[in-house]
Amino acid sequence: MNQLQTSSHIHPVLGDYYSGKTGKNVIVIAGLHGNEYSPVNAVLEVFRKLNDLKPEINGRVISLAGNIPALREGVRYIEEDLNRIWDDPDLLNGNWHNGTIERQEQKRLLDTIISILDIDRDAVIIDLHTSSSPSIPFIPAGDNRLAEPYFRAVKVPVVRDPRRYLKGMLIQFFQDNGFTSFAYEGGEHSTKNAQDDIEAAIWLTMAEAGLFNENFDNFIFKQKEKLHRFSDEYPAVLEIIHRHAVQPDDEFKMNKGFKNFDRIEQGDELASDRHGFILSPYQGYLLMPLYQNQGEDGFFIAREID
Ligand SMILES: [Zn+2]
Repeated sequence: MNQLQTSSHIHPVLGDYYSGKTGKNVIVIAGLHGNEYSPVNAVLEVFRKLNDLKPEINGRVISLAGNIPALREGVRYIEEDLNRIWDDPDLLNGNWHNGTIERQEQKRLLDTIISILDIDRDAVIIDLHTSSSPSIPFIPAGDNRLAEPYFRAVKVPVVRDPRRYLKGMLIQFFQDNGFTSFAYEGGEHSTKNAQDDIEAAIWLTMAEAGLFNENFDNFIFKQKEKLHRFSDEYPAVLEIIHRHAVQPDDEFKMNKGFKNFDRIEQGDELASDRHGFILSPYQGYLLMPLYQNQGEDGFFIAREID
């Protein structure tokens, strides 16, 4: 299943498809975290089908590899998290003071995206991820109202972050600069379900962007059937009300067995660190419990909103 047999094959542009007709640019980022291969494989599968079926599309879909050095190593990041450094005010003034590997990757991505947007600013930018715990797919949305039609099309739970617990995410940077941009969390790292669900989300995003004509309706309907299975069981919209921050020397350890979107009660024992047990301060839904070594977010708690 893993098409990324060797790292040397990771090209900065994972795929680029257009058929000469104007329309929206759909820009798809995959592998911003280098241990998340399912998004990259999903993208490669989308382009394999596009090149096979050769539909005439209105616009362009282009996919960029996120953190290439980290993808080569199969790690989340090399020096710093590439999805936590997009709130740097130096980003647009060209002052690249800090030469970490991730800053160089950020510059490559930003330069490429700006060159695409220079041609046509009508774009939707999506950023694909997977999680270290078992999970249903969901959309971390920031607070971007422009993306509402896409949320309805993809129809998996949307997690808003009005207090901006998650800082420096790529999607926030583009949202703040006026673009339609959201992330898509497909499920647990390196699972077939995650890859399939991410692939469906890419097709539905392209369809909502108006890229396809009616002769693609049946195909798109099948993608909807795949993803819309979650909408009865889980809230449509949630918001993050708590973040448990982790310091490198905390010895944080999530208790075993939690899944993304587990319902939890106030006082439930969730994790431990060198200070002792960590109890849930709220009732709600547990989000993104940390089951990997790298990362500064132990877990989040969200509540359902109307
Ligand atoms: Zn990720």
